Amino acid sequence: MGRVIAVANQKGGVGKTTTAINLAASFAAAEVNTLLVDCDPQSNATSGLGFVKDPERVSSYHLLMGAASAEEALLTTELDQLWLIPAHKNLIGANLELVDADAREFRLREAIAPLRERFQFIVLDCPPALDLLTLNALVAADAVLIPMQGEYFALEGVSELLDTIERIRAILNPELGIEGVVLTMFDERTNLSQQVKSELKNYFGEKLCSTTVPRNIRLAEAPSHGKPALMYDPRSKGAESYIKLAKEIIERQVSGVAQAPFEVAEHVGQEDAQAAEQLPVEAVPTEEHRAEGAVEELPVSSEMDKSA
Ligand code: ATP
Ligand code: MG
Repeated sequence: MGRVIAVANQKGGVGKTTTAINLAASFAAAEVNTLLVDCDPQSNATSGLGFVKDPERVSSYHLLMGAASAEEALLTTELDQLWLIPAHKNLIGANLELVDADAREFRLREAIAPLRERFQFIVLDCPPALDLLTLNALVAADAVLIPMQGEYFALEGVSELLDTIERIRAILNPELGIEGVVLTMFDERTNLSQQVKSELKNYFGEKLCSTTVPRNIRLAEAPSHGKPALMYDPRSKGAESYIKLAKEIIERQVSGVAQAPFEVAEHVGQEDAQAAEQLPVEAVPTEEHRAEGAVEELPVSSEMDKSA
């Protein structure tokens, strides 16, 4: 049974797509059948593997809308053991079109289920939002890989992501684990990077991958040539780091680190169907939710207690 890894972080530009493409390519280069699924309307994973925009092509949009099977969407790539399910910008519409649909969070999970026997790894590239598309990816996944940039504000917003993971685990996908946190665009040499790394190590413990991805021009150039870095420049530091990360992830599975629970500092409390309704967390609060918030904010006055 293949392992489904969602590469997610709602923060933009942290290296999700670069990680998804190059990790998937590294798995494939290690001779395991690997599928990359582009779940982002920006379609950067699709163009990064050399596929030009084509609104007619069967894509992840069709999968979510139940208009095509995953089998029909599969594209072969230049790497023998790497397949792609592409995205198109119409995917942005799925967020709205699925609002009232049944089991809207399970669309991707159900669509890729028939492929899990065939691929050892299925890597999902998520958009920079905690929207219904990311939600579908997290419900479909066995584990999340979180790329983070080694910068001062690295941890900003991460609690929101971890809360979402907890909620999904509580309501929609109890099996969801944290595969790891990987530092991207990392500069070993600066004090600041080292400080950020040790802060992340304190926070994430063994979930922080020991492999870091350096800032490397080849990683940035490769997508414009429609290739993963290991085909564009296999000897580059960037290509090497993703090969190392792929090995580490395979080893973490064998050793059980990937399956180990991660205790989120502020545990999300009792979950119910209403909490499921509140997902995705970026949804604008309804009048009702706002009113509830207002009630919580009312100070409990000790004056009132005395007079009662
Ligand atoms: P988005 O949130 O928009 O989907 P993302 O998280 O997928 O972004 P990427 O597209 O992978 O991030 O990376 C953002 C930019 O940084 C891209 O131009 C990419 O080429 C570049 N980049 C990513 N990782 C590296 C790296 N290790 N070295 C150099 N450039 C990098
Ligand atoms: Mg991206």
